[in-house]
Amino acid sequence: MQPFVLSRPKTLAEAGDLARAQPQDSALRAGGIDLIDRMKEGLEAPARLIELRWLGESEAVMRALGPDGEGLQIGALVTLAQLAGHEGLGEAYAALRQAAGSAATPTIRNAATLGGNLLQRPRCWYFRHADLVCLKKGGSACLAVSGENKYHAILGGGPSFIVHPSTLACALTALDAQVVIRGTEARTLPIAELFVTPKQDAKREHALQPGEVLVRAILPKPGAEQRSGYAAVKEKQSHDWPLAEAAVKMSLQSGVMTDVRVVLGHVAPIPWRSREAEAALEGKPASEALFAEAAKAALAEARPLRDNAYKIPLAQGLLREVLHRVAGVPLPE
Ligand SMILES: Cc1cc2nc3c(=O)[nH]c(=O)nc-3n(C[C@H](O)[C@H](O)[C@H](O)COP(=O)(O)OP(=O)(O)OC[C@H]3O[C@@H](n4cnc5c(N)ncnc54)[C@H](O)[C@@H]3O)c2cc1C
Ligand code: SF4
Repeated sequence: MQPFVLSRPKTLAEAGDLARAQPQDSALRAGGIDLIDRMKEGLEAPARLIELRWLGESEAVMRALGPDGEGLQIGALVTLAQLAGHEGLGEAYAALRQAAGSAATPTIRNAATLGGNLLQRPRCWYFRHADLVCLKKGGSACLAVSGENKYHAILGGGPSFIVHPSTLACALTALDAQVVIRGTEARTLPIAELFVTPKQDAKREHALQPGEVLVRAILPKPGAEQRSGYAAVKEKQSHDWPLAEAAVKMSLQSGVMTDVRVVLGHVAPIPWRSREAEAALEGKPASEALFAEAAKAALAEARPLRDNAYKIPLAQGLLREVLHRVAGVPLPE
């Protein structure tokens, strides 16, 4: 790893100024799990690391976790472990608690933050290899197309076929979160607009500009009948990134589902909201037959590569399981 200067700004304004002074040669560090990995792997060698964990009391919003007027606030420095253990997330936001509790390992969850989790870079093994220059690193081709593509996208892929690595992204998209970003000005985006598709720009995964800091996420106030859930399948349940994940949110009144959100993770370059599955479920009584129909609709447009067609039945089964759990319909024997 190359030597670097470690800066410990006390305010977001200071952090932003430092980042803008060296836009190509500095990096914000939160938990550091992904950033330090990338530096150790030789993918990046920033001359300056800007520590976000030393921000002072004036930036308490970065560590806040709890309700306020707009809904539930989650500061960007809140850790996955804090989210996994937060009782205030209740049934309405259960998808987020379950997602945070299933990501990575207990040790990583204690350090990893909301902001860093959403903004971590892809796990594609060609991208992570320091000697390979694929499309995402400025090369001319996606090496996964003709190479090993077991873990790659089956939906929305091309020209890069990464899957979005963030587990929190899947749950937060299902919960209609917004994110607040601060640079020279502050802006608030629906979380779906935080993510950049490879068709928009194959070299990046998010819409932040150099010097912008993700400050917090906001979950809108839930209706009385809102409930949600999340599940993932991994090769090793103890510590892998998922092969596929599903997050669902709905309001359930007398067995009828409304305000349904269906999001699949690790199947596409962005958290994949399935409007087809949502349309199949919206306004209808929950039933096993309907869940099977929705799962089929969610994967109807899947275009697998050579090694990843297995993700279609996997994601369908996972989505059905989460729908059963959230709607309280017993799973068939
Ligand atoms: C064995 C293993 C298994 C894992 N399994 C999973 C899994 O199942 N699901 C999952 O989601 N992840 C998984 N991870 C990844 C891990 O959760 C992420 O690396 C971690 O969440 C990143 O958070 P961080 O705070 O450490 O980010 P950092 O490494 O500090 O930052 C990540 C990136 O975000 C930028 N950044 C951080 N905070 C901000 C901010 N507030 N504003 C602007 N930019 C910012 C940094 O500059 C950097 O580019 C796994 C990791 C390992 C090692
Ligand atoms: S999927 Fe994306 S990151 Fe992986 S080789 Fe293709 S272009 Fe590179």
